[in-house]
Amino acid sequence: MTPARIRRLPDHLVNKIAAGEVVERPASVVKELVENSLDALCTQVTVDLKDAGRALIRVTDDGVGMSAEEVDLALLRHATSKLATDADLDAIVTLGFRGEALPAICAVTRFALSSCPRGSDTGTLVRGEGGAVSEKLLIAASGGTTVEAQDLFFNTPARLKFLKSAPSEVAAAMRLLEGIALAHLEVHFRVTHNGRPALAAPRARTLRDRMGALWGFERATRLLDVLRKDGPLAVAGLIAPPQLARGNRDEIVLIVNGRPVRDTQLTQTLIEAYRPLLARDQFPVAVLRLEMPPQEVDVNVHPTKAWVRFRSPRQVQEVLYRAVQDALRQSHVVRAQRGLRTESGSAVGATGEPAAAGSFSFVRGGPEMAPALPQSADSPRESPIAPTALPETPDNRFGTGDAAPAGQVSLFREPSAGFAAANFGQVIGQLQDTFIVSASDEEVFFVDQHVAHERVLFERLLRELDGGPLASQELLFPQPVELGAEQAGLVQDWASTLEGLGFGLEGWSGSTVVLRAVPALLRGQEPQRLIETLVEDVNRPRKGEAVPLLHRALSFVACHAAIKAHAPLQREEMARLIADLAGTQTPYFCPHGRPIVSRLSLRDIKRDLGRTW
Ligand code: ADP
Ligand code: MG
Repeated sequence: MTPARIRRLPDHLVNKIAAGEVVERPASVVKELVENSLDALCTQVTVDLKDAGRALIRVTDDGVGMSAEEVDLALLRHATSKLATDADLDAIVTLGFRGEALPAICAVTRFALSSCPRGSDTGTLVRGEGGAVSEKLLIAASGGTTVEAQDLFFNTPARLKFLKSAPSEVAAAMRLLEGIALAHLEVHFRVTHNGRPALAAPRARTLRDRMGALWGFERATRLLDVLRKDGPLAVAGLIAPPQLARGNRDEIVLIVNGRPVRDTQLTQTLIEAYRPLLARDQFPVAVLRLEMPPQEVDVNVHPTKAWVRFRSPRQVQEVLYRAVQDALRQSHVVRAQRGLRTESGSAVGATGEPAAAGSFSFVRGGPEMAPALPQSADSPRESPIAPTALPETPDNRFGTGDAAPAGQVSLFREPSAGFAAANFGQVIGQLQDTFIVSASDEEVFFVDQHVAHERVLFERLLRELDGGPLASQELLFPQPVELGAEQAGLVQDWASTLEGLGFGLEGWSGSTVVLRAVPALLRGQEPQRLIETLVEDVNRPRKGEAVPLLHRALSFVACHAAIKAHAPLQREEMARLIADLAGTQTPYFCPHGRPIVSRLSLRDIKRDLGRTW
């Protein structure tokens, strides 16, 4: 084949090729059109979709509109009203600026655009398909613009084939519209799909109101405020407390200078800030608006402008991390320590107000909260709940159980925990010999005693392992344990890990393992059963994650040593357990990822009961 001669491509083909970058799916058309409406300073936008946007996408606004000449220009590639000079490109303040969306959309749809400048009663209507205008009329109209895009990709069948199912395309478009609506509170958004309302968000005064309109008011009232300013950088928004976490990242919205963006690192930073409070398969709900001078962020790195580049990404991550930790901390700690004092002697939260900025350091590994109460024998390291029989707690340790709130003690117990945040209040009693019921000023907690104890033991043992093998209990007589060949092989493979945990293994013969010692915490358990369940538990893969062998084996020990359900507990034992739990790094989930605490807000209870004070 001889190569063809080089030639300039005709405009319609250029646009069709460019459309490949800008217009990927219905959601991208929605995005570009709504952004144009916002740039045109509209107060209302209506989006109508048919068949997930494949049959029709219509966006109507009441913005500044365009004159007849402007309409002609708008359809040309690289025609924009938003950039004039080179310098403008370095500090972009509009959502669009590339001047390619309208021509790209028109290149791959049957389109109609009508527009009328504000204050005029005559508008322009153009119609066409595949980028070619077939009709242009003057029409009677009022200020604003409507763009209709039908039969997306009708002339690019290869593209059409890449579209996903209608529900996924609708979901993508809705997610995008939600992000835009969360970024622009001042605009009234209406969306319909196949004639039915899909989203209605009136102009909102606050982000909370907007989130309420989109995701439900019930939930919106429970979100925590985030606000942090650091020089020219500001982060503001709302995040969910850990107990409202989700199983996916769909409800994480990051908005940079009014533009919802995707940013893997920032998302990861957000998750990190929550991490001690969330199980591995749980994700935060958050809408965070980052504001910075336009020079600090380059939005011109991707044709759809979904990704941005920060001039100093580390700094942005740092501010976001701190902002989120401030918010999480205030919800859990500051209220918890009402009336207590920091090292500097300043009263913290004595009036229920958030701590003054700077009272604490939020940097991981930095100085943590000052231990204001004497660190006594209450340290969990020194006097844990004993595994089988609960401890001989001195009667006076918690007085009558009313005087010294257990949760508060634990707050100051673990200066190295980095996130000692939980407070489960004071014990009220035990339900069904299985759940510890406690209450703080704001909430009632139901703590599953078994998983709670498992979490406490797990973290304690993990720390103890730093100092060497765990305590071991020799069996009176070494005990041969019969296993299948495969199981015996596994035990042999795991031998060094198991020995670190206090198992004493002595010789293998065929499929028999000789057990000489067990972890002290598991003394008294029947060796044969113990090893069998160990192999079964430790060998069971967990869905979707690679948990290190040591952690799997350690959760086995913790689980088997932990107090069981249906075990009556003394009040002091319960107080000790919830205090210890509050001092753990991950108080809400057991090492297997099961939740530990269920909670009711007193506010909800009061509301249900019609109590107004
Ligand atoms: P960009 O938004 O990058 O400038 P577009 O191709 O999306 O490029 O739009 C081209 C121009 O058309 C815009 O700069 C703007 O002047 C005008 N325009 C597009 N949509 C609207 C609208 N809804 N209202 C008013 N003007 C619009
Ligand atoms: Mg645009």
